[in-house]
Amino acid sequence: MWKVVLDFALPPRCAGCAEIVEEVDGFCADCWLTLDWLGSGGCERCGIPLEATDAELCARCLAAPPPLDRMRAAVAYGPLSRVIALKLKYGRKVALARTMARYMAPLRGPSTKAIMVPVPLHRRRLWWRGFNQSGLVARHLGKRWDMPVDQHLLRRVRPTPPLKGMNEAQRRKAVSGAFAAIDGRRLSGQTVILIDDVLTSGSTAAACAKALRKAGAGRVELICWARVVRPGRLVR
Ligand SMILES: [Zn+2]
Ligand SMILES: [Zn+2]
Repeated sequence: MWKVVLDFALPPRCAGCAEIVEEVDGFCADCWLTLDWLGSGGCERCGIPLEATDAELCARCLAAPPPLDRMRAAVAYGPLSRVIALKLKYGRKVALARTMARYMAPLRGPSTKAIMVPVPLHRRRLWWRGFNQSGLVARHLGKRWDMPVDQHLLRRVRPTPPLKGMNEAQRRKAVSGAFAAIDGRRLSGQTVILIDDVLTSGSTAAACAKALRKAGAGRVELICWARVVRPGRLVR
């Protein structure tokens, strides 16, 4: 309750540097400029920036369509977007979930009837951390979109090692079969919008999409806060 009272009593602060700002869940001008906003454009399918081309799909998606029908991220993964994600995850700054949701909200695609599903944590990690950061973001986004969020439909059925330092093939192997969707009837033919904080190689999201499809989901999309934009993947 005190948190609520304080939120009203104190002036809003920048989510990046804590400087006093005009509105809640926003950034000051300096922090705003250091973030690379990605918007809804880019490759129609994976959202990777397509600079100075009028191509609709990137070369990668043309060669092999990814398991997700649509992927969008609010910002590119960089120093500040990383700190925001870490502060939410490990620093327990849960208000940042609301900030992320604010900037992820405009990225919704044409699917208006969908089930929102956060990328789940393994129950052991959930127990340690006490919350799923993607679940918090999904809850705020669900309110903004007026869309149902199901926190239990998708499960991480086995713990996965940290993917940091692994190449794409190793990541794929590490998360293969790690997810399972439990309610096939509810999913049948439905559009699912996966919610995540950070998208790196996409192997976790792909494994989630595979599990959802196996349980009958139709279209699977992903909206996340930050994504790694590899310069090598840019189509110029
Ligand atoms: Zn700032
Ligand atoms: Zn693409």
